[in-house]
Order: sequence, then structure tokens, then C-alpha cells
Amino acid sequence: MRTAVFPGSFDPFTIGHKDIADRALGIFDRLIIGIGYNINKPSKDTVEERIKAITAVYAEEPRVTVTAYSGLTVDFAKSQGAGFIVRGIREVKDFEYERNLADTNAAISDIETVFLTARPQYGFVSSSMIRELEANGYDPSEFLPARHQD
Ligand code: ADP
Repeated sequence: MRTAVFPGSFDPFTIGHKDIADRALGIFDRLIIGIGYNINKPSKDTVEERIKAITAVYAEEPRVTVTAYSGLTVDFAKSQGAGFIVRGIREVKDFEYERNLADTNAAISDIETVFLTARPQYGFVSSSMIRELEANGYDPSEFLPARHQD
């Protein structure tokens, strides 16, 4: 069984993140969405709120697990029995950052990083853009995935 981790801040989880996660489900048997604690990044939503929101999006997809972690992503992946890390790339800036991360992770583990490029229609969507819209009174729902109601 091929298990992948999709790590990120997901503050919040956007339609762009969902597109990457959905496409990863076409490649891997199981996907663990890992919300990384990043002490250098102030967050809008608490980790608990983010877990709840993403879990609601995938309420009907048993192959997805949502969990928070701290520490190295490769250690988290190993603890979950995952051999792969999935990351999304929107533009050259993302690529340079992501390549550096992937090279570091390859140097310290045998976890393979798989990149999926953003679909053009989601290429401009970012959590920071959503936070900015929200902070200025614009309802950003159109950039957030639909949730299953509980
Ligand atoms: P991080 O703080 O780890 O960069 P993010 O939550 O910002 O976490 O992003 C998680 C992953 O999703 C990153 O690989 C990022 O490049 C990717 N990503 C973010 N937005 C999009 C999008 N609109 N389309 C595709 N990938 C995206």
C-alpha cells in the first residue's frame, strides 16, 4: 500500500490544496494531510480548527486522515508509515523553495517527494490571499472547499 503525507500549514485549507490532495488520491492508496506547527508563522486558525475543517471536507473519503504534527516532516512521514511527501507548486518561487526542502529531506531520509503542479485555475489561490481578503471584510468562501455537514 502506498501512503503519502501532504504536509502544510493549511491556514486555511484552500481549493488549491484540495485539488492537490484529490489528485494525490489518484496516485496513492492513502493520504495523510499533516498540519505542521510552524513556530515562525503566526496562524489565523488554531490547529484544532484546521483539523476540523479539513476533516469535514474529507468526511466521506476514508483514505484521507488529517492530523497535526511538530518536528521534521520526514519523521512524521515515517511515523505514519508513509514513503512519500506530496507538495504543490504554483510558480518558480514555489519551485525553488520546494526543491530545497525536497533535497534536504532526501539527504536525511529515503522519503521521496512528489510534486504536483497547480492547475492554472488555482494557481493564484493561497492561504495568505484568503487571510488578506477576510481581514478586509470580503467573504472568501469561493476559495474554500465545500464541507460535508455533520
Ligand atoms: P507551507 O507553509 O508548508 O508552505 P501551505 O499550506 O502554504 O504550507 O502549502 C502547502 C502546500 O500546498 C505547498 O506545497 C504549497 O506549495 C501548496 N499549495 C498552496 N496553494 C496551492 C495551490 N493553489 N495550488 C497548488 N498547490 C498549492
